[in-house]
Amino acid sequence: MKVRWLGSAGEVGRSCVEINVDGRLFILDCGIKLSGEGTYPDFSDVDISAIEAVIISHAHLDHSGYAPYLYHIGYNGPIYFTKPTFELALLLQKDYIKVQSLEGVTPPFFNEDIRKEINRAVTLNYEEKVYINDDVALTFFNAGHILGSAQVCLDTPYGRIVYTGDIGSDVKTLDPIKKNIPGVDYLIIESTYGMKNDVHRPMEEREKELIRVIKETKKKKGNVLIPVFAIDRAQNIMILLKEARERGEISQPIFIEGMLVKANDIYSNYPDWMNKKMFDMFKKEDPFNNPMFREVWNRKKIIQMSEPIIVVTTSGMMSGGPVIDYFNSWASDERNTLVLVGYQVEDTFGRQILEGLREFKDEDGKMKKIKARVESIEFSAHADHPSIVEYVNAFRVAPKKVFLDHGEGEKLTELCTEISKITECVIAEPKISYQLGKEEAIKEARPRPEVVYEEKLPPVECPFEFIVTTPQDKYFKDRAVSLIENSREVLLISGYLDDSVVSFIIDAVKKGVKVKAIFRHITRPGNKKAFKTLRNNGAQVRVNRDCHARFIISDDREAIISSGDLTRDSFYDHYEAGILTTDAATIKKATAFFYQMWDQSIEGYIKE
Ligand SMILES: [Zn+2]
Ligand SMILES: [Zn+2]
Repeated sequence: MKVRWLGSAGEVGRSCVEINVDGRLFILDCGIKLSGEGTYPDFSDVDISAIEAVIISHAHLDHSGYAPYLYHIGYNGPIYFTKPTFELALLLQKDYIKVQSLEGVTPPFFNEDIRKEINRAVTLNYEEKVYINDDVALTFFNAGHILGSAQVCLDTPYGRIVYTGDIGSDVKTLDPIKKNIPGVDYLIIESTYGMKNDVHRPMEEREKELIRVIKETKKKKGNVLIPVFAIDRAQNIMILLKEARERGEISQPIFIEGMLVKANDIYSNYPDWMNKKMFDMFKKEDPFNNPMFREVWNRKKIIQMSEPIIVVTTSGMMSGGPVIDYFNSWASDERNTLVLVGYQVEDTFGRQILEGLREFKDEDGKMKKIKARVESIEFSAHADHPSIVEYVNAFRVAPKKVFLDHGEGEKLTELCTEISKITECVIAEPKISYQLGKEEAIKEARPRPEVVYEEKLPPVECPFEFIVTTPQDKYFKDRAVSLIENSREVLLISGYLDDSVVSFIIDAVKKGVKVKAIFRHITRPGNKKAFKTLRNNGAQVRVNRDCHARFIISDDREAIISSGDLTRDSFYDHYEAGILTTDAATIKKATAFFYQMWDQSIEGYIKE
């Protein structure tokens, strides 16, 4: 077995590690570097036909952003994610294409490559072990960094290798990283904050400081502008603000805008992937859809509001996005405050302001003074030096060898010195092949996975052909798509419809199939888009906030029914339990129920 870095050795960005097991390749992460030298991983000498699987640790662009490129150049194999990572990664990849096009650059891949990726996607839960070829098994373990983030664990005939991806610490919404994964032979670990003096202040202290700044700004009747990264930082800041408001510490109206709104929707779909506190919060209400957070519909109006407000928006390093408009209008008023809550990479606008820039050119080329207060309170989603060392120390039996990547210069050497006290440590270098384990290791015969859903029918008393539960939701979705594709006359649908499903429905409409669809959460951007797209293509669509059921009924011949209990809590069951049936009586009952809901649904639609 060999390991080689195609990116992220000695740098932060374009994470991409190649594991070679007997000539078959496993690609761990495939990311983009957003600033500095070298944008993409180097695949120049990689035999694409030898790639067995691509595995993505988490959604951040520096880990997932370049994956569709592999499909662009002919890879057609599986790509593994956790479910939330899959959704978040698609959001960022699509956005990347858009941003590139806006900047007049031809993107390295296109939407059709993302569609290929969607078709080959396999989603897994944490700690669900699957064989991804005859010899190699994959397990994801929680990394505590962003929603869905995972450590990638590969069991090979040459030993167990764990690639941490990015390690989180103190993330408000998530459980902490899983430590002491048993039996690890080789460890690849990130080093973003590897320097000895990279020590984060206690979270409580940082939270208090942010609240204090917000209160002081209100006293001066100024506005607070908080640029955030759409994934993770946004949600953490929102929860922090929500709690402070509920404690009565702050009272300004809070506005949110930008891609974070779409990311919120994905967070809202996965309460059970967050920590217990968040899960309990979700039982009462969706914290990200709380009326306390007002989505911006008219930016100009919000900018000119007379009362002091808080705006949380993208982009986090002020390199574009709505934050620029707010900053242009508010920067020269000394009553206002800009709070930078994320790491500001060199050469970004955010970094320049942080380093004392006090004058800038706005979009019309006018010079403007920065008189607003500027504060930097970093809420990093990365582990600091002591936390990384602690993670390595926590193994009951230390790994034989630790490789460091995702870090720069001294950060790597200082961390390596520290880890060398525990076990052998290597700073990964680009494009060097490291031999792991003995080549002559004897391959153990390993049991093949049992694929339960391919078994024939369940016992006769059951009127249904299949009962489907996690983790086979991909199978569930595949069946849904085939049901939609094979509809000849009528198709009744309710529930969440993602982009890929919508395109199949439109194809059905074009074949002359009559489609009726009921949406529940029309305010969610994904659903809003699906609603519009379907309506514009001739499907009948209605909205019903009380519609908790998920149905796909095709031609009265076949139906998928999920969240069948139709209770308030049914959203926890999304994708988790379902029935696929051809039983006429059940279909009839489901159809009658659908039409009952249809009659109670409205055709209305929230205005832009
Ligand atoms: Zn990350
Ligand atoms: Zn990263």
